[in-house]
Amino acid sequence: MGLREHNYWTTTVEMPSWGAPLPLPESVDVAVIGAGFTGLSAARTLAKRGARVTVLEGETIGWGASSRNGGMVLTGMKLGVNKLISMYGRELTRRMYAASLASIDCVEQIVREEKIDCDFSRCGHLEVACKQKHFDDYARQVEVIAREFNHQLRVVQKDELGTEIGSNIYYGGMVDEVSAGLNPARYVAGLGRAAVMAGAEICEHTRVEGMQREARQGESGWKINTSKGALWAHEIFVGTSGYTGEATPALRKKIIPIGSFIITTEILPEALAREVSPRNRMIYDSKNYLYYYRLTPDRRMLFGGRAAFFPENDRTVQQSADILRRGMIDVYPQLRDAKIEYVWGGTLDFAFDIMPHAGQMDGMYYAVGYAGHGVAMATYQGQKIAELMVGDKPENPFVGIPFPGAPLGLYNGRPWFLPFAGAWYKFLDWVS
Ligand SMILES: Cc1cc2nc3c(=O)[nH]c(=O)nc-3n(C[C@H](O)[C@H](O)[C@H](O)COP(=O)(O)OP(=O)(O)OC[C@H]3O[C@@H](n4cnc5c(N)ncnc54)[C@H](O)[C@@H]3O)c2cc1C
Repeated sequence: MGLREHNYWTTTVEMPSWGAPLPLPESVDVAVIGAGFTGLSAARTLAKRGARVTVLEGETIGWGASSRNGGMVLTGMKLGVNKLISMYGRELTRRMYAASLASIDCVEQIVREEKIDCDFSRCGHLEVACKQKHFDDYARQVEVIAREFNHQLRVVQKDELGTEIGSNIYYGGMVDEVSAGLNPARYVAGLGRAAVMAGAEICEHTRVEGMQREARQGESGWKINTSKGALWAHEIFVGTSGYTGEATPALRKKIIPIGSFIITTEILPEALAREVSPRNRMIYDSKNYLYYYRLTPDRRMLFGGRAAFFPENDRTVQQSADILRRGMIDVYPQLRDAKIEYVWGGTLDFAFDIMPHAGQMDGMYYAVGYAGHGVAMATYQGQKIAELMVGDKPENPFVGIPFPGAPLGLYNGRPWFLPFAGAWYKFLDWVS
């Protein structure tokens, strides 16, 4: 089979489809915008708690990053623990780290409760060091994480790395056995079904174009205009991540949409698959401009990276296929002859401080900013913000932390600076 510009994961599942009900409901308790992990997890929780919920999705369920990602369910956050402690202090960082661990339990529990057939497995992750000084820092990180967060990671010396990965280009590694892997398209499909089973309604092909405050029968709320007509909602939850657009301009200004791209090979012979990833870990390297990779459950090598910084389009996807194939062969020369069968891209959401953020803005609830750690955290934030909306007081250390915008306010939501950011990251990888 030749190379297809197509998401491999979506070939493994029949995505459920609910279309757009016409007419839209006249009024609901909560309108959720976006049918990815965030929105569907929120809708499931809200509906289970008795709220009338409608999910408004401009495309189809899971169309955004949620069906396109690497399926790595990772502990920790994008920023390292020392950086986090310097930004937030020990106590808040401890709560954030605990939330990152709880987010993986949250995914596991939903998968189990809803019987989602998505190959969830606690296979652990391996971070590999591209430089000696990155490796030297692993021992310090392992010590801080054990002392401060009571969580055990393991350093793998270069001469033992062969038990973890069939590549000899790295200086050593760090393993966390708690991380997991899954098939994201099957997971988001299952989450959608679970939300509907709980009583939520999903309206696909229904793009939110704008909203304004409008009280009804003495109740505060929102009139929401969509491509399929208007509806009224008591509350709004925004879960639009890297695809946040003009309907929520204040949120849009706080998010940098960044493209990430993935290739997958043909199915590898069993022995070769075992050689490249003997323990079937979720693997990523220590660079800013990083590669992340894993085997799929049917033994393909799935290899991703920020090959082009701009969000996906025909040009960036094609360019990325070549760049990622070269990157994959640098890591694994033994995959030189493996055919690349799929390539696709998706958009990640980075906040300017590279942290997740959740809470309320302009009277609307939101959760964004997962920076490539969204499989677990988006699911978790959807659930936690939903709990907040129904009046619980859930533990959520990401609510209320400062949410910085662009320096000097030089950003209207169009990421003109991405080529510079890309060059800057490459420069940092060279010097650090
Ligand atoms: C290539 C790639 C690889 C990744 N790999 C990993 C990984 O291995 N591990 C990990 O943890 N994270 C990874 N991520 C990140 C992770 O996929 C995301 O953080 C997560 O899916 C975000 O979920 P979400 O529901 O918030 O947003 P999304 O899944 O992006 O969904 C947002 C939805 O909002 C809809 N929308 C936007 N505006 C409107 C509107 N006005 N009206 C109606 N609907 C609207 C969009 O159509 C979209 O479907 C990766 C991301 C990409 C792109």
